[in-house]
Amino acid sequence: MTAPPKPFNPARSLDHHAERVDLAAAFRWFARLEMHESVANHLSAAVSPDGAKFLINPRGRHFARICASDLLLLDAHDMSTLERPEAPDRTAWYLHAMLHAKLPEARCVMHLHSKYATALACLEDSVLYPIDMNTMRFFGRVALDEEFGGMALSDAEGNRVAGMLAGGATVLLMANHGILVVGASVAQAFDELYYFERAAETLLTCYASGKKLRIVSDEIAALTAEQWRGYGQLAVDHFENIKAILDAEEPAYRH
Ligand SMILES: [Zn+2]
Repeated sequence: MTAPPKPFNPARSLDHHAERVDLAAAFRWFARLEMHESVANHLSAAVSPDGAKFLINPRGRHFARICASDLLLLDAHDMSTLERPEAPDRTAWYLHAMLHAKLPEARCVMHLHSKYATALACLEDSVLYPIDMNTMRFFGRVALDEEFGGMALSDAEGNRVAGMLAGGATVLLMANHGILVVGASVAQAFDELYYFERAAETLLTCYASGKKLRIVSDEIAALTAEQWRGYGQLAVDHFENIKAILDAEEPAYRH
């Protein structure tokens, strides 16, 4: 008779339970949306005021199976983190630890290689032109990182990325790579990433038609982006509905 499998994370914990539940819900929903890369990519949430302590997914766990207690609690200032048996993926550490340490207001950091955002990042012209309300939502808030230099495996790379977001952008489109979003909460970052993916899908669908784009003026795009800011509750409602569906269909994510 074979022994039962050991718990994935030996230091299972339910500290910071609300943040754990929200982050686990985001993983599960991105899996449902096919915006995941199986066990790769990472989402993290700060749990200390200075941002240095944060939750992140463990190495080798599929997005669709992540539970609240699986999430690792790390300290951006603890340089021994990568030596531990339960160390996170190295690219996750270099990107997220530096971002949380440098940008404490970014309570949630989400990095994905989702299909449409990544396709946009692979075009020579990666601008998200304002052509519908979803694309206009991001007008003036997207930073473009055009310096793909391989996987992020150093503090310098994390530092560079943090610098690109220091000017107030909430979205970093990473050329030849994917997307990174920061938000004031898990719900906000999730909503931002969800809508960016839809916006990129619309733009790429227009490109696929071979017809010219109907691009609105900067003034109309800026006005619409400002109007979006009046819909802050949308992100909260969106995420509460997602958790309600998960509670009914796969409540184990909370454990
Ligand atoms: Zn990546």
